[in-house]
Amino acid sequence: MQEEQLLMIKYGELGLKGKNKNQFINRLVKNIELALAGLPERKVSVSLGRITVPVLGDRDEVAARLARVFGIYAICPVRRTAKELPAIQRAALAALKEALPNGGEFKVESRRSDKRFPLLSPEISRAVGGYIFAQTGELYTAQMHKPKNIVNVEVRDEGAYVYCGSLPGAKGMPVGTGGRAVVMLSGGIDSPVAAFMAMKRGVNIEAVHFESYPFTSERALQKVLDLAQVLAGWHNRPIRVHAVHFTEIQKAIHAACPEDYGITIMRRFMFRLAEQIARRNAAIAIYTGESVGQVASQTLESMYVINSVTKMPVLRPLIGFDKEEIVARAQQIGTFDISIRPYEDCCTVFLPPHPKIKPRLAEAEAMEENLAVDELIAAALARTKIYAATPDGVTEQPEAAAEAGLGGL
Ligand code: ATP
Ligand code: MG
Repeated sequence: MQEEQLLMIKYGELGLKGKNKNQFINRLVKNIELALAGLPERKVSVSLGRITVPVLGDRDEVAARLARVFGIYAICPVRRTAKELPAIQRAALAALKEALPNGGEFKVESRRSDKRFPLLSPEISRAVGGYIFAQTGELYTAQMHKPKNIVNVEVRDEGAYVYCGSLPGAKGMPVGTGGRAVVMLSGGIDSPVAAFMAMKRGVNIEAVHFESYPFTSERALQKVLDLAQVLAGWHNRPIRVHAVHFTEIQKAIHAACPEDYGITIMRRFMFRLAEQIARRNAAIAIYTGESVGQVASQTLESMYVINSVTKMPVLRPLIGFDKEEIVARAQQIGTFDISIRPYEDCCTVFLPPHPKIKPRLAEAEAMEENLAVDELIAAALARTKIYAATPDGVTEQPEAAAEAGLGGL
């Protein structure tokens, strides 16, 4: 048996019991296969609670794609060898050298599920440790208590697995295990982070964007599609973006409502539309990038009045974050540089100089008496365009497919 390179996937087992566990693992395997699409490594195998991916080409590329699959806790580069001591020893030395090229402290830990293997676990550890010392002189020293670096040897039926160290995974839950929601995606810094937080907990997302063309430029929409393209890398499947034509609603509000309530009423329309799109796509929650106190529409009073238009749960994963924390997340995710491009958002176009910080529900409702709410909503939905974003690009979906909810997802 030739030595083979594998990546072994460790997943969080906390809270996973019985049937849930199988669902979780099946979904995780599926998502790994989707993330590796186009690479020769896409043949994932699962056995005895282990998910492994063979490394056939560029290990870094495979590892980088796996780092974007939620549900993975750690990725271990493994050498699989014949179940013979010399092969195990050579693999252990190579793994240690790769993890600690300049020397350091280590410990060998061995396990043996193949009980026919002639050495007991402690004997394997001693033989491997002895070999490492013999080959490297004083470069490495043994540390038996609280070792930072562990050379793991596992002798299993199908071969011996040897590894030292691991790369961190994205953690969270596999996308698709947490139901489906819509994310209100603006071109700002916050909402892409909210989308990431939704996906991290396993939620399958559809994005809803409100555009005010021609008051906002086509580049404003492009910015949102570029954000969706980055986010799609973490979704392991395309993300659909519903671009709602919001201009007529904004014009109607501007014409019929007092200026200081403009944002409040505009946002009530956004939530009504988001709820409708959610229903059409079998989604049962709405995510936003709001955080208390950030702007006038994010006071508790504003959120109360705005939120009153929907009974669907509105989830705000950034609710307690400061801007700095959100920015750091956005940088990690890879959306920050796109979000800070200077194109205007639909909110800024009609921004009144003094938006109401403490609006009242009765007043907002009274003002909406002057608007044809249902007709405006229906007209905006009728002019919604749907795009599908993947890490490689964005395509507009033909209308028939969009109407029938056929996104190829
Ligand atoms: P962001 O950085 O996400 O734009 P923000 O701090 O600018 O957030 P607001 O403009 O008040 O805050 O928007 C609050 C939330 O409402 C956003 O996080 C987003 O979820 C949603 N939202 C705002 N504008 C739009 C839009 N044009 N299309 C879709 N959702 C939007
Ligand atoms: Mg914004």
